[in-house]
Amino acid sequence: MKRFYCTVCQKFKRVRQMPANVTTPNAPKPEDRKGQCKWHAGAGYTRNTLHAKVGA
Ligand SMILES: [Zn+2]
Repeated sequence: MKRFYCTVCQKFKRVRQMPANVTTPNAPKPEDRKGQCKWHAGAGYTRNTLHAKVGA
């Protein structure tokens, strides 16, 4: 599991895969890995995932 800080939830999230919108996914400290979890990431993460399923 990986951890990052969701700027929308304003708390740390544990995910199996880091969302694409996390700017520095390899930063040593979780507080430096800021992004949005997939629940709010609309344009990036979620839509791509949906598209992959629907388009097939
Ligand atoms: Zn969130």
